[in-house]
Amino acid sequence: MALNVPGYTLLRKANGVLKHIRNERRGLILTPSRRIARVAPPGERIVAMTFDDGPTKMPPSRGTIPDNGRVWTPAPTPEDAASPVGGGVHTAPPSPYTSSPPSPYTSSPPSPDSSGGAGLTEHLLSVLKEFGARGTFDVVGSTAENYPDAAGEPGGQYVFGKKYDHYAAFGLDDMAGAEACPDLIRRIAREGHELTNHTFRHIIYGKSRAMYSSRVTMSGLAEAVADLKRLHTLIYELTKIEMRFTRPPHYVDKMPDGHTSFDACEEMDYHYLSASFDGGGYLPSAASYTETVEAMVRPMREALEADPSCLAGQIIFQKDGYNMSKHTPIADALKLHLELLEKYGYRVITVSELVARSPFEDVRPAHDCFEAVRELDKAGFITGFRNNRFYPERAMTRGELNTVIATPVFNLTGDARPGNAGATGGSGSVKRHRAIKIDKKDQASVRQISARASEVFDRIEGQPASNKRGDVAVWLHKLAVLNGIC
Ligand SMILES: [Zn+2]
Repeated sequence: MALNVPGYTLLRKANGVLKHIRNERRGLILTPSRRIARVAPPGERIVAMTFDDGPTKMPPSRGTIPDNGRVWTPAPTPEDAASPVGGGVHTAPPSPYTSSPPSPYTSSPPSPDSSGGAGLTEHLLSVLKEFGARGTFDVVGSTAENYPDAAGEPGGQYVFGKKYDHYAAFGLDDMAGAEACPDLIRRIAREGHELTNHTFRHIIYGKSRAMYSSRVTMSGLAEAVADLKRLHTLIYELTKIEMRFTRPPHYVDKMPDGHTSFDACEEMDYHYLSASFDGGGYLPSAASYTETVEAMVRPMREALEADPSCLAGQIIFQKDGYNMSKHTPIADALKLHLELLEKYGYRVITVSELVARSPFEDVRPAHDCFEAVRELDKAGFITGFRNNRFYPERAMTRGELNTVIATPVFNLTGDARPGNAGATGGSGSVKRHRAIKIDKKDQASVRQISARASEVFDRIEGQPASNKRGDVAVWLHKLAVLNGIC
């Protein structure tokens, strides 16, 4: 599909406005499953990095790329990785890039290179190790069942298949995914990286974008949840680890039966894993391999030069697989990314660790309620909104109060979850709590908050300074500590 540049720019703008509206709406939904794209800078330079669509045994591919000086126009992004929420720096992928005409490059056998004959995922793991970085691998199960299908043109968004995605590539489904690469999954876990659920078969949840019009979609929530459970179980069998996050394929949320990916998240006790900074690596290759790698590195270098702290608390998107030209610029860009991050004093940690340090986008360490909010979240209180905000200055409503108080830590079954439960785990023993839509006008008074809290806490001390959510959190945290819950 060829898109002329002005039309494409306009589409992106419209999409940006829609995203903003959607994000505001999410700010009215109190939920155990938040869409986490980034968190408030936690006072130190830490950042997370996610690697999508692997693991893969395929070796890195630099291809044979003629530098023919061709001028390219932007291609649509397949993963729409970066959602510019919450201010801060967001850099879209640069575009020395090329549009639809099939790439002139041959996807040749990989040249001997720095990966020493290892598969791409193994190579990425070695690079991460070299820098003491811990990544978040957003893995798939297998795409081997996604047939009959036909391969699309190289260089376009259907290169991995017309009806479905195929990883590592069309016809090479046995070279990627947890089912075909159990040893890679175990190694990822063993080396301290996080695993997250990118669905078993990587089938998009629904039709919502013209660019995926030929795709077969999930039929609805039941199928999506069954698919997520299938991968959750496989990963648990391989590693004894319960995943805590999921990222829907291509960020398509709406399902044909009216449900959304958020329903699937709640069903699974997952958070929705988004990203705020695009590492690139999925677009068609540029005129030369060097340029393709540079296109991935430049945005990060420029962002850090402009503001050395800009990546603190962000989640960087990366690709653990081929780009649309069947090359793997990530194989070389990752090292350059990590060198940059090291130069500016960053540590790369897993998404779970990042969220444990700073759970929300809008509560910074300097805020009075930071500590309280973080500890309540860790203990499993449901205090946050779908857009990963806490809104410390907003008045607490009666609906919120009831949800916070009826949170899993207070389950009357005595099923209190110790420690870092968050909204997660999938242990199955905890009663699930669904999202509630709040009515901002239905505010609770300090008296109502105190009275409701006294029903569940044995020991009560004072009352919140106001009905602002931040003040209520500080007070609730004090009660939770007094009562041995936090
Ligand atoms: Zn994907």
